[in-house]
Amino acid sequence: MSEQALRTIDNKKNRVIFCDFDGTITENDNIIAIIRHFNPPGWEAIVNDIVGQRKSIRQGVGELFRLLPASRKREVVDYAISNARIRSGFADLLEYCKTNNIEFYVTSGGIDFFVYPLLSPFGIQAEHIYCNGSDFSGEQIEITWPHACESHCKNDCGMCKTTIIRRFQPESYSRILIGDSVTDFEGAKIADVVFARSHLILKCRELGLDFHEFETFHDVLDVIKQQEEDVN
Ligand SMILES: [Mg+2]
Ligand SMILES: [Zn+2]
Repeated sequence: MSEQALRTIDNKKNRVIFCDFDGTITENDNIIAIIRHFNPPGWEAIVNDIVGQRKSIRQGVGELFRLLPASRKREVVDYAISNARIRSGFADLLEYCKTNNIEFYVTSGGIDFFVYPLLSPFGIQAEHIYCNGSDFSGEQIEITWPHACESHCKNDCGMCKTTIIRRFQPESYSRILIGDSVTDFEGAKIADVVFARSHLILKCRELGLDFHEFETFHDVLDVIKQQEEDVN
């Protein structure tokens, strides 16, 4: 835990959660798992440039998938779906959100062909899932970007979390971000409360942002419940 005073969830406002997918809802990053498995020449340098923020996420992820032939669609999709594991406590968090009027959005830098199938058992409305798209009609796999940055964001996110978070006014919403890595950095700067693991912890420390460390969604749920009791 950070030693700073933690920002708390404002229970007088509507609570809304923005939850990352890769490395957060799933235990590992699916994009990295796919690219490592198929191992096309040149992928490691691109990943290092994304993680080191020398290359935008949109540019880097686009380049990674262009290394894979679209003809291998079935193998790529099957590998992604069979390889992923859902982090413990996810279904419990969703259930709690439903019964306690906490809005829940998946804000993912991942790709539609694995995000939607992996989430299908959990009954999340499609309008509450934001991710990137894919096009297998050409020679190489082409990623599409239906939720790119609006004018306020110059980060070239691909799937822009701050664009979505900003649609929820801070006057009426307590905005909670859950994430693990580079796709969460910008959102963590504007969210009211941050749950972090992995790279996002290091980034929050670097930026002086306070955060709740988590490993499973039970950890997240414990904090949400405890902060409800604090106001009652
Ligand atoms: Mg992630
Ligand atoms: Zn953006």
